[in-house]
Amino acid sequence: QPSSLSGLPAGVGEALEAEGVAELYPPQSAAVEAGVADGESLVAAVPTASGKTLIAELAMLSAVERGGKALYIVPLRALASEKKTEFERWEEFGVTVGVSTGNYESDGEWLATRDIIVATSEKVDSLIRNGAPWIDDLTCVVSDEVHLVDDPNRGPTLEVTLAKLRKVNPGLQTVALSATVGNADVIAEWLDAELVESDWRPIDLRMGVHFGNAVDFVDGSKREVPVERGEDQTARLVADALDTEEDGRGGSSLVFVNSRRNAESSARKLTDVTGSRLSDDERDQLRELADEIRSGSDTDTAADLADAVERGSAFHHAGLRSEDRARVEDAFRDRLIKCISATPTLAAGVNTPARRVIVRDWRRYDGEFGGMKPLDVLEVHQMCGRAGRPGLDPYGEAVLLANDADTKEELFERYLWADPEPVRSKLAAEPALRTHVLATVASGFASTREGLLAFLDNTLYATQTDDEGRLAAVNDTVLDYLAVNDFVDRDRDGGTESLTATGIGHTVSRLYLDPMSAAEMIDGLRSVARDAGGATAGAGGETGEFVRTGDADGDEPGFGTYTRPGEGGEAGGDGESGGDGEANETGGERSEAPGVTPLGLYHLVSRTPDMYELYLKSGDREEYTELCYEREGEFLGAVPSEYEDVRFEDWLASLKTARLLEDWANEVDEDRITERYGVGPGDIRGKVDTAEWLLRAAETLARDVEGVDGDTVVAVREARKRIEYGVREELLDLAGVRNVGRKRARRLFEAGIETRADLREADKAVVLGALRGRERTAERILEHAGREDPSMDGVRPDRSASAAAT
Ligand code: ADP
Repeated sequence: QPSSLSGLPAGVGEALEAEGVAELYPPQSAAVEAGVADGESLVAAVPTASGKTLIAELAMLSAVERGGKALYIVPLRALASEKKTEFERWEEFGVTVGVSTGNYESDGEWLATRDIIVATSEKVDSLIRNGAPWIDDLTCVVSDEVHLVDDPNRGPTLEVTLAKLRKVNPGLQTVALSATVGNADVIAEWLDAELVESDWRPIDLRMGVHFGNAVDFVDGSKREVPVERGEDQTARLVADALDTEEDGRGGSSLVFVNSRRNAESSARKLTDVTGSRLSDDERDQLRELADEIRSGSDTDTAADLADAVERGSAFHHAGLRSEDRARVEDAFRDRLIKCISATPTLAAGVNTPARRVIVRDWRRYDGEFGGMKPLDVLEVHQMCGRAGRPGLDPYGEAVLLANDADTKEELFERYLWADPEPVRSKLAAEPALRTHVLATVASGFASTREGLLAFLDNTLYATQTDDEGRLAAVNDTVLDYLAVNDFVDRDRDGGTESLTATGIGHTVSRLYLDPMSAAEMIDGLRSVARDAGGATAGAGGETGEFVRTGDADGDEPGFGTYTRPGEGGEAGGDGESGGDGEANETGGERSEAPGVTPLGLYHLVSRTPDMYELYLKSGDREEYTELCYEREGEFLGAVPSEYEDVRFEDWLASLKTARLLEDWANEVDEDRITERYGVGPGDIRGKVDTAEWLLRAAETLARDVEGVDGDTVVAVREARKRIEYGVREELLDLAGVRNVGRKRARRLFEAGIETRADLREADKAVVLGALRGRERTAERILEHAGREDPSMDGVRPDRSASAAAT
């Protein structure tokens, strides 16, 4: 019984029982026996939804009770706030909780006072690089979904971060939570941890394959689900789950498909099944939800989602805005949405159990592979693990689909009878090491080549490899690269060579840039002075002074912690923070640097490896080649020749991204952009966030390196601000007011209200007219603009002023 557990803060055991935890699940008991509540390190490799979080909580709460401090590392930013909210229920027992998302200043001071801190691995890596003092105080670290060390993009960061934390704090309790993988024992060996490995689940999971008229389950049972000729297999299975009575509301389904487009079309098709099975009350609630989605965004994606949701079906993929993703997840948990068609991103993390999981596509297009590639067993098992809602279903069902007997056989062998693959470290890849070697030297974890290799010996890679020479070889290539680009100094003193980060090397590491991105940006920024015939060479010395005057807004790059937005979702977020008053400060300063245009700068950041690229579609090559010649004078650095096929193609792909950003900064409508570039609204957000971060970094670099003049620095800042707000220059002041945004700023401007100061003086009727009669919004905006009396009581909107604008 939880209340008999010792070592927890008083009241916690009883609270757990009140939550319905009458006794520990078997893997949880095994973890306690292994000492997880007594400070022992542990790897728990158990299926989804079998109570891993409680294992972590026992570790963290007992650590806090012993006077320590715990860190919980999550793989996605969306999970950080979810977990923080979950842990906050312990605050009534005196345990404080914080999540690291903001800037370093507030994080540094405030987080030091928290008992439990939640953050993504990228964030933790960044905090270590920036020297957050509380890192030394940690006594317990939890790594959620540790099997993601296998991920080529994000795995190395998690691996190096854990190695650093363990090096700073010898004896640190390390608790790693993993899905069931092929080699949990190797992870345990790496982390010097006890291992709890189990297949136990709170609800039975039946996995099977549907072919013909029935699902055949692995356990030998069978369920008749006959499909008529011409009928869709997926639709039939979704209908079958819904028609199975459970308190009259039927069972929900999750359908996994292999692309966003397929998720959208599947959701649309399934509205026939879900729409005809709704109660009147559900219909009303869904209509309300659909309206919320529509009013939040005027893109086609939002409209399509709303149309499907209205009829009880939804899609879920990374192109959705995060608000809409959360709406879909919540409504599915509330059993209002009956079916979600999702890409595999949903399988990781977010808690959305369903009665039935249908894995419709088990292959997906892989660019490097050059065709359709089967999914990993681990991935398919994680999708299947979403089946079965505790307390609602007698068991969960996961069904794969086959069209013929051979495929059915193959699916059984490949997925249902198979064990998940082992995870393998991806650290020995050059791009990963480039970043981490620099950070390791810059933050003092190693000061010689040998020291570096000794540090890398604490990684999973070293535990796994039998080819020790490989890591050393890649390490040497990377050191050469860092030295050539002046990020690291090598000093040979006698027999040993010492390594130190240069000033710029330190900056690059703190900015969280891939050193290759930094090198590209520095080169491009310097090319401005070069192209101007060296006339401004030597202006570097004045740069610092010049800029400081303009940047009194407190968001000066270099003092924040930087994490790359994107996959980790570490974006700057709401686009409002620090926005107030900012645009004023540059008033009067105009970029006069000849040739430095926003497009040139957007292209510069778009061609770095830190920007996820857009692909060229058919016809794009011609279109962007033409654009490339038309605007040749704007690019920073040399344009590759058309004969360098691969490089030129990459250049054009970056140009496509750059033009998307330019469109955004020119106030082109979101739905027009999604159409023009074939992307979702969430992608625009992602590109914009990444560009904003990279331009901020570019501004710092432009100031710190020699050979970049002051005008260029100003141009970078203005290009960044236009991206941040998505507006032309004349709207920067207005768009910086909270709750205004790009569309409202334009309408106010057209009504003659051009600045923040105008807002304080303007005729309220005109303001209200420009804001389409929305009183609450108008009041909030006036308040944020600093108006003494923002009340709209009795004001009638004057719409004539804004009529011209719309
Ligand atoms: P995982 O992290 O392994 O995917 P969770 O920790 O989210 O799984 O647990 C799934 C659900 O099971 C949660 O709703 C949790 O409250 C519940 N749960 C966990 N442990 C117990 C227990 N011992 N008894 C009853 N419910 C539990």
